[in-house]
Amino acid sequence: MEQKLFVYNTLTRKKEEFIPLNPGHVGMYVCGPTVYSDVHIGNCRTFICFDLIFRYLLHLGYKVRYVRNITDAGHLESDADEGEDKISKKAKIAQLEPMEIVQKYTVDFHNVMQVFNALPPSIEPTATGHIIEQIELVKDILEKGYAYEVDGSVYFDVEKYNQTQDYGILNGRKLEDMLNNTRNLGGQNEKHGKLDFALWIKAKPEHLMKWPSPWGLGFPGWHLECSAMSNKYLGHQFDIHGGGIDLMPTHHTNEIAQNVACCGKNPASYWLHTNMLTTNGQKMSKSLGNSFLPHELFLGSHPLLKKGYSPMTVRFFFMQASYRSTVDFSNEAIEAAEIFYKKLAESAKKLVTLQQNAITTVDEETNKAINDICDDCYHGMNDNFNSPKTLDALNNLSKWINSYSGNNRNSGEISAETFDRMKKTYNDFFFDVLGLKQDDNENADTDDLMNLVITLRNEAKTNKDYATSDKIREGLKSIGFQLNDNKQGTTDWIRI
Ligand SMILES: [Zn+2]
Repeated sequence: MEQKLFVYNTLTRKKEEFIPLNPGHVGMYVCGPTVYSDVHIGNCRTFICFDLIFRYLLHLGYKVRYVRNITDAGHLESDADEGEDKISKKAKIAQLEPMEIVQKYTVDFHNVMQVFNALPPSIEPTATGHIIEQIELVKDILEKGYAYEVDGSVYFDVEKYNQTQDYGILNGRKLEDMLNNTRNLGGQNEKHGKLDFALWIKAKPEHLMKWPSPWGLGFPGWHLECSAMSNKYLGHQFDIHGGGIDLMPTHHTNEIAQNVACCGKNPASYWLHTNMLTTNGQKMSKSLGNSFLPHELFLGSHPLLKKGYSPMTVRFFFMQASYRSTVDFSNEAIEAAEIFYKKLAESAKKLVTLQQNAITTVDEETNKAINDICDDCYHGMNDNFNSPKTLDALNNLSKWINSYSGNNRNSGEISAETFDRMKKTYNDFFFDVLGLKQDDNENADTDDLMNLVITLRNEAKTNKDYATSDKIREGLKSIGFQLNDNKQGTTDWIRI
């Protein structure tokens, strides 16, 4: 079977055949989270989509080096190099060290990714761990003449860069349009041009995270870390650079400019961007109260949710859309995903014991139909990681698996080779590529035990024996179970 992979490249605005720079190897960089608050579900979708891409490349046999950074310094509140450092601000509010904030939210992020069954990246570098590399990069860009220093800060000179390069190569916009659509800089008159951005920022005396540099005490600009770390771990040129679509117009545009300025090359051959999540057709935002944290989704503890959904249901829900499409959250849509996921998971369970009966004559038509469906699983993913197409194929395959399972065989006979291929393809795509697994909640023994514990705890609460009730709650938490307390008592639980 021919297996050409095509990916949509934001850089060229078309689908292209994926040809890695080094045959058999893929270098992939994805912009990771800024660890100053709980990761919201929109970010989770981005990382789950890149997990799908990572998994499929591995399945195809590539040796993949997947680098996803942790931003633990330098990300200011505004993209215009204004406002406080997000992590420092949170640290001041919580009266903690910035690194305590970083530690807490990095651990939380890893836990959430694990719950969603996302594979860890090959390298997860941090901005604070690469200050030296970032300073070297600033020096390099200054030497090449694409940056200037003003009173301890260093800025990238966008207009000068655009004289010989195309600054808007990724976002497809002309410099004049970008200049016209950018507001004037308030007090920040240090910059020569409106689009110039900070490579290094002079630290005010009260700033918590700062490092010595040739330009005095300061900290790196946010865009710089990704250029420095991708350079270090993947070289000046690598295959895939990814991130959320919101990062494309500024963060990724600036990243390319930095790389071209220092190394003369656009760092990645293919730029991939995931799309946004909406709720009931509206953009998700904290201010509208329509964005969810992962645990709110699992517990159903958000006012817009009818009930909780398992992490695998949520993952499956994301897989039902292409990573480039927006996904709209509604109770109806995710309930439909839950039913579909359970149906396919049920077929995956049957595979464990599925045996072929003795064959007398192979029914060529059925044999071909099943092989075609197996091919379709690949065609879907080869078409720019189109997971909904692959899910359709998997759904078709599940019908055959169901018909061959149990004693009620009512399908045509197929060759042993096709039978094995059907089983292997289903297993490979359900578990390894789509990254799904059986919901642990479906373990009946655990359900019974948890119901018993919850009943005992509710009794303790009724008797005002809060010490026992708290002890049960904390004990369960320490072994990975979180109870959902509400007005009716405790009715629900999740694995954490
Ligand atoms: Zn980045």
